[in-house]
Amino acid sequence: MNSTTQADTQHAAVSVVGLGLMGQALAGAFLGSEARTTVWNRSPEKAEALVAKGAVLATSAAAAVEAAPLVVVCLTDYDAFHAVLNPLADALRGKTVVNLTSGHSDGSRETARWADEHGIAYLDGAIMAIPPVIGTEHATLLYAGARDVFDAAEATLAALGTATHLGEDHGLASLYDVALLGIMWGVLNSFLHGAALLETAQVKASTFAPLANAWIGAVTNFVSAYAGQIDEGSYPAHDATIDTHLATMVHLLHESEATGVGTELPAFVKQLTDRAIASGRAGDSYAAMIEQFRKPTA
Ligand code: NAP
Repeated sequence: MNSTTQADTQHAAVSVVGLGLMGQALAGAFLGSEARTTVWNRSPEKAEALVAKGAVLATSAAAAVEAAPLVVVCLTDYDAFHAVLNPLADALRGKTVVNLTSGHSDGSRETARWADEHGIAYLDGAIMAIPPVIGTEHATLLYAGARDVFDAAEATLAALGTATHLGEDHGLASLYDVALLGIMWGVLNSFLHGAALLETAQVKASTFAPLANAWIGAVTNFVSAYAGQIDEGSYPAHDATIDTHLATMVHLLHESEATGVGTELPAFVKQLTDRAIASGRAGDSYAAMIEQFRKPTA
């Protein structure tokens, strides 16, 4: 934690609304910091371990809101958020609500409008971590909303992990959330497909894993290089052309067919690549594939 500042003092008390797996981890991390932590959950038994560690139990969501200027909410979805918080809009006036519930950007912006109408300072957030990592520097938490609201809450929120302010558009946290999760599923699905392929040659997944991890690390260099090309709209092939990618992609598809492993994933990637080539991108870098993602599938 940073040294005490006015913002620390202002937000030295925090209420956590929602004590599911993630909410319990969030409250535990606040407890481990200097913040006075009040907790509330619809099913009160989930508060017991936290109360034993020093959390103050609120007997209602209204009492939790009353207890602190900063209210951190982590519920299943935005419907649950509104079911719990909307009736408390008047009590929340002048307070800060940080919503760490997962959702989509429309819901985030709509919730921000609701908060604004009721004089509530609002940050929409996303948690790029699992509960055991919360409270460590390895937990990345993303926040979107007014900069001054973030600045005032940052010292308290730092107890949860590395806090990143994305910008003033409240939809950004949800958008980054799904964009980053999409990367996770893309990498994991490719790893699982590769593991299934290697299994046909009696190679264990744990034998494949170190090379897979090293390769995932190498791919991060492509991301950095291609990001600049995407932003500039120019895709010079300094490494390999899309044509070259296609040739090896065909090998992946062939190996999958020959070994009886699922072909959906390589067939889908090849379909996008065929489309890029048909649109004249054969000699460009793989970054030109961005156009296939911008365009809805025909
Ligand atoms: P969870 O264990 O299923 O907890 C859900 C929480 O929402 C519980 O506190 C539940 O209360 C409460 N809830 C649901 N509907 C409610 C309603 N209508 N009124 C009052 N309370 C209600 O889920 P979780 O893992 O903590 O996840 C919570 C949020 O964090 C989700 O949006 C999730 O996507 C996000 N998240 C989770 C992780 C993770 O690894 N777990 C990682 C990143 C983000 P009861 O206990 O009474 O049912």
